[in-house]
Amino acid sequence: MATETTATYTQLRVKCMKCGLHFIVCTDYPEQHAITTLYCPECGQHLGKFLLWKAEVEGFIFQAVPGGAEMDSVGL
Ligand SMILES: [Zn+2]
Repeated sequence: MATETTATYTQLRVKCMKCGLHFIVCTDYPEQHAITTLYCPECGQHLGKFLLWKAEVEGFIFQAVPGGAEMDSVGL
């Protein structure tokens, strides 16, 4: 018997309107995020100048981050 997951999480897909960076926030708590809470990882903009899309995605966050990616660096 196959096991199927019903797990989902939310991707906040963001475009910074200052520098143009596109990035994705993966979260189980989308209600804790809004354009007013985001900081652009590239230019640091925190004025709410973003385009924000929400998508419910099947699976678990760890399947996307890190997914199959190689570890690049660790900051402790
Ligand atoms: Zn930016």
